[in-house]
Amino acid sequence: MDRPLIDRGADGSSGVSVEIGAAPAVDSALAEAGRRLFAAQARFIAGAPTPSALPPETLPEIAFVGRSNVGKSSLVNALTGRSTLARISNTPGRTRQINFFDLGGRLMLVDLPGYGYAEASKSAVKSWTSLVRHYLQTRAALRRVCLLIDSRHGIKEIDRPLMRMLDDAGVSYQVVLTKSDKAGKGEFASVPDKIMAELAAHVAAHPEIHLTSALDRRGIAELRETLANFAFPIGQSR
Ligand code: GDP
Repeated sequence: MDRPLIDRGADGSSGVSVEIGAAPAVDSALAEAGRRLFAAQARFIAGAPTPSALPPETLPEIAFVGRSNVGKSSLVNALTGRSTLARISNTPGRTRQINFFDLGGRLMLVDLPGYGYAEASKSAVKSWTSLVRHYLQTRAALRRVCLLIDSRHGIKEIDRPLMRMLDDAGVSYQVVLTKSDKAGKGEFASVPDKIMAELAAHVAAHPEIHLTSALDRRGIAELRETLANFAFPIGQSR
């Protein structure tokens, strides 16, 4: 099975050369670090509908964002092994706010509201933009944004304003492809290469793509490993 991680080629020349690793041995220490971190309880801390409601910055933060229906709740649930997060984030009235979850006192998972609702009014888009922009521009604890993209569709016009916002804010972000169980067929094979090529033009984009599926759990352990790198070590006091 292909390792569900795509990295830019070692020559680094054009930025479009991609390498799909052929199942290198997973480092067991890293895998264990990822497993242990995500075995901890994810505790709901706060929901912020406005910038003034953002909670204090107590932990390194990893944020998840994507267009509505991209599979964000399913992915976060697969990572944490619980359905609590989706339940909270999909509660009516809470969907337009930023939700914070403390993972074992070591990492804050931050669920940013989705974008691209067909029925969204102009004022809803405006308030989404000002809330998310404020968070991205001011949050010193924010270590990485996972930009979720449907692996069948690739990056769409609706995703590009957010990518520009991330570049402007200088926030490191990486693409996480969702629903990869649906994208196994030939017609979708070029999606990761096209994304890598587009990312090369974005200063804040991390040149690595994770391929995931909440359904068959492909790529979940690898994403946990990557995110564990940002967590406070076990036993570190805040
Ligand atoms: P959100 O709006 O981004 O939070 O998206 P959800 O997590 O609610 O998922 C939207 C839809 O996609 C739901 O019908 C899910 O069952 C489906 N979905 C989510 N993740 C996957 C996946 O990995 N594979 C497949 N086949 N469907 C998925």
